[in-house]
Amino acid sequence: MSTVTINPVVPAGVTLPIYMDNHATSPMDPRVLEAMMPFFSVKFGNAASRNHSFGWEAEQAVEQAREQIARLIGATAKEIIFTSGATESNNLAIKGIAEMYRERGNHIITQVTEHKAVLDTCKRLEKYGYRVTYLPVKADGLIDMDDLRRAIDDKTVLVTIMSANNEIGVVQPIAEIGKLCHEKGVIFHTDAVQAVGKIPMDVQAMNIDVLSLTAHKIYGPKGVGALYVRRRNPRVQIAAQIDGGGHERGMRSGTLNVPGIVGLGKACAIAQEEMATEAARLCAMRDHLRKRFESELDYVEVNGSWEHRLPGNLNMSFIYVEGESLLMGINDVAVSSGSACTSATLEPSYVLKALGLGDDVAHSSIRFGLGRFNTMAECDYVADKVIGIVKKLRELSPLYEMVKDGIDLSKIEWAAH
Ligand SMILES: *Cc1c(COP(=O)(O)O)cnc(C)c1O
Repeated sequence: MSTVTINPVVPAGVTLPIYMDNHATSPMDPRVLEAMMPFFSVKFGNAASRNHSFGWEAEQAVEQAREQIARLIGATAKEIIFTSGATESNNLAIKGIAEMYRERGNHIITQVTEHKAVLDTCKRLEKYGYRVTYLPVKADGLIDMDDLRRAIDDKTVLVTIMSANNEIGVVQPIAEIGKLCHEKGVIFHTDAVQAVGKIPMDVQAMNIDVLSLTAHKIYGPKGVGALYVRRRNPRVQIAAQIDGGGHERGMRSGTLNVPGIVGLGKACAIAQEEMATEAARLCAMRDHLRKRFESELDYVEVNGSWEHRLPGNLNMSFIYVEGESLLMGINDVAVSSGSACTSATLEPSYVLKALGLGDDVAHSSIRFGLGRFNTMAECDYVADKVIGIVKKLRELSPLYEMVKDGIDLSKIEWAAH
């Protein structure tokens, strides 16, 4: 492996390293931290304490957060259950529905590019006798509605399809899926972690029955999330997975994380206020990055649908460069690669593989996750850096040289080794 470095001029106002991995987690908005602070100190009450003002104060703050979250997704406050994050929300939704509706049926439908919090939960249920259909995705990352329609049978109790993908930013046809599920009388859950606060989400208009979200992807704190559970048309029931005291309408026991919940509420209120302007700004930066890569490099490709995509996501393959060298070369920019470290080996991302990408192309892919605190100046620095590295690495690449010389790589008979 070759280590190549390149150091473009750092524009005024840009400090290194640059954070451009907002799908993994987002920095906290200072306004969120400010709202949380009193609940770490003077307002320390337990929201379940009914006998004194400390408890009432905490409870009131929790109820305000419930309202703020509900408002952002078109729900009512009573339909919001607090959890420790979206991994727990997804577990509670899928296992809780599977258990509650076991008499009605044992079939669950999901799709192959879901987050592991959904896929691993479904795998666990398979061990307990549930039947799970994993729908494929098309080359653009979207599911085929006809596949879904065909997969639903009289034993299907749950469809769980994510709203937006965390690697390629592709937004699934959620309203269409919701409509189909309601027609068929099947419960529809969506992991909406990447979509909430970024694009308009409305549980009524989209016929969503159960929805997972988390604070740390929307400029709130880590370790707190929520689950929306529909109360009417239809009323959805979920079997608790954690017992002990019957908090959260019996669905999730445990003392509430009051500062975290206040932060999640504030993050939702800010997102609601600023979503439209922020989305426009992120789209402009994302489009600018893409344009620079495409005009200054050859053999680059966008992964996933461009039309149905989150504002802040650009996932690109830089073909004929070695993925690890590329990542090492951009060490002062925090982005993610199309490789996942599993037990010390570098595996190509299962999401990119599901789109039909070969291992080499998947390894040469970078996810640029833009967020609230990124600037256009940062984008230009990142573009300079990536373009510089890709050009240098390709100078060292025999494959790239052969392609440039007009040799069709697919026709070559490689010597066995
Ligand atoms: C981050 C993420 C999760 C997990 O959320 P946590 O709150 O970190 O447990 C689940 N689904 C998607 C799509 C995510 O991006």
